[in-house]
Amino acid sequence: MSVAERLEIVRREIVAAAASSGRDPSAIRLVAVSKTKPPELIREAYAAGQRDFGENYVQELSAKADALADLPDLRFHLIGHLQRNKAKLVARLVSVIHTIDSARLATELGKHAGDRAPDRALDALVEVNVGGEEQKSGCRPEDLPGVLAAVEAEPALRLRGLMTVPPFTEDPRASAPYFEELARLRQAHGGPARLPELSMGMSRDFPLAIAAGATLVRIGTAIFGSR
Ligand SMILES: *Cc1c(COP(=O)(O)O)cnc(C)c1O
Repeated sequence: MSVAERLEIVRREIVAAAASSGRDPSAIRLVAVSKTKPPELIREAYAAGQRDFGENYVQELSAKADALADLPDLRFHLIGHLQRNKAKLVARLVSVIHTIDSARLATELGKHAGDRAPDRALDALVEVNVGGEEQKSGCRPEDLPGVLAAVEAEPALRLRGLMTVPPFTEDPRASAPYFEELARLRQAHGGPARLPELSMGMSRDFPLAIAAGATLVRIGTAIFGSR
């Protein structure tokens, strides 16, 4: 199956998931996760109308941004962990960062995002480690107030919402309580007025994320094949 065909299937599944939870499908944006995949596949998805692409690694993102510089309205989303020493490069390359997990990182990004055009604030989501896993990135739920405030203190960042990656389990249905927890955290910290976006759901569990209120789903394997 081609990328265009798989993309079409995913789009239909998003619409179906939205319908079964009584949500407007246009409130859900698909981020096609292209990590480890070559720029040619991104071009195929782009030709099929896809504009938002998720990447995990800054080096790889930078090479792809160069290779695809002729596609003007393509938007990159950083969905992988970001080290502060790469903040400058990332602030130049991406439209949305999903993985702010500390006040220090927010401050560093804010400093560099100031180099962007004034009408192009960097959209920022705060990653939360809802599963409380040792090794996982994302801030602890109790640290959210400080991280959110640090994002809002940066004029070059635009706070958009929360992101999470639930613990991996054999049964994707086990993700549902973590998605619901992220939605609950949003309610506890200002609701959709302050945090309009919830970035959650991947190839295996995105319908559950949509049922819990996801507005950004990050889907790789189902579009580009296994890695
Ligand atoms: C790789 C990745 C995805 C996409 O995962 P698939 O299972 O391939 O859909 C989504 N989110 C994050 C943070 C990732 O690292």
